[in-house]
Amino acid sequence: MNLYQKITTGDITALGKGITLVESTSPKHEKEAQSLLAKCLPKSGNSIRIGITGVPGVGKSTFIETFGKLLTSQGNKVAVLAIDPTSEKTHGSILGDKSRMNKLSNDNNAFIRPSASSGALGGIANKTRETIILCEAAGFDVVLVETVGVGQNETTVNNLVDFFLLLMLSGAGDELQGIKRGIMEVADALVITKSDGDNIQKAKNACLEYKKAIHLFPDMENGWKPWVNTCSALENTGVSEIFEVIKKFNQQMTSNKWKIEKRKKQEKYWLHHRIKEELGNKKYKSLVSEGKLEIIEKEISQGTSIYQLLNKI
Ligand code: GDP
Repeated sequence: MNLYQKITTGDITALGKGITLVESTSPKHEKEAQSLLAKCLPKSGNSIRIGITGVPGVGKSTFIETFGKLLTSQGNKVAVLAIDPTSEKTHGSILGDKSRMNKLSNDNNAFIRPSASSGALGGIANKTRETIILCEAAGFDVVLVETVGVGQNETTVNNLVDFFLLLMLSGAGDELQGIKRGIMEVADALVITKSDGDNIQKAKNACLEYKKAIHLFPDMENGWKPWVNTCSALENTGVSEIFEVIKKFNQQMTSNKWKIEKRKKQEKYWLHHRIKEELGNKKYKSLVSEGKLEIIEKEISQGTSIYQLLNKI
């Protein structure tokens, strides 16, 4: 069996190898990577893609562990693409030593892949989009994309996922301090973490504050009203409710066709991004001025993959 075939049987080792190939910046891997992606593409697209963001310490990895275990207990296969903030500096990995997400990493129905954040894309590894495609081809039906920190650029994660979950800490004083409004505006759900012990009342208060704040935001294009709640990943409270809301969102956005429209828009975004990145700004500008970009975009909307197109340009 070749790598593609192994991946489609759900072989985790092959999936890991495939991702390494796709992440490789070596020119000699490029063709092989593009061919693998082109083959996997028709088998992809069938998952719920969920972005999870929050400041360091908010409880992302603890949450993903509890949430991931809940999902696998309900029969889902869960892929976690975790952005590892330390790997760039240390060339090691805080996930690699299994100090994070211990239980989930031992779960046969979970796949955890740390990748170094590229910086330029706001906490998103450069090839996260391609990694999602491979995970879906391997049969994962929920993909969690974790990003670190909260900054304006983190909205880029919204260009990768169907549902965007923002985790927040309850804090004393001004609840909105330090949180960039832009991120709150694109969040489909906002959840206050660590609602346990002495912190429950504080978390409830923060929840009310955020509910009020969200009312002032413009309506979302898709008609969705952002959901605000509290949870404790340690005590496993409020966690299953989050998945119920995500399933409801997925159903609603599938039937009103918004999910497919959003994915088409994302495809265009990444097309532009890849052209600039791989062929340079100059080439990108000339494609725009010659009207060729419009033609390329049309091909994309008719189902041609970015990878086939990049070879043709
Ligand atoms: P990350 O940096 O966002 O991934 O946050 P971590 O998951 O590493 O959590 C940061 C700290 O908060 C750790 O000491 C956790 O034990 C603690 N923590 C995470 N979730 C909870 C929770 O639900 N309740 C409480 N009390 N502490 C939590």
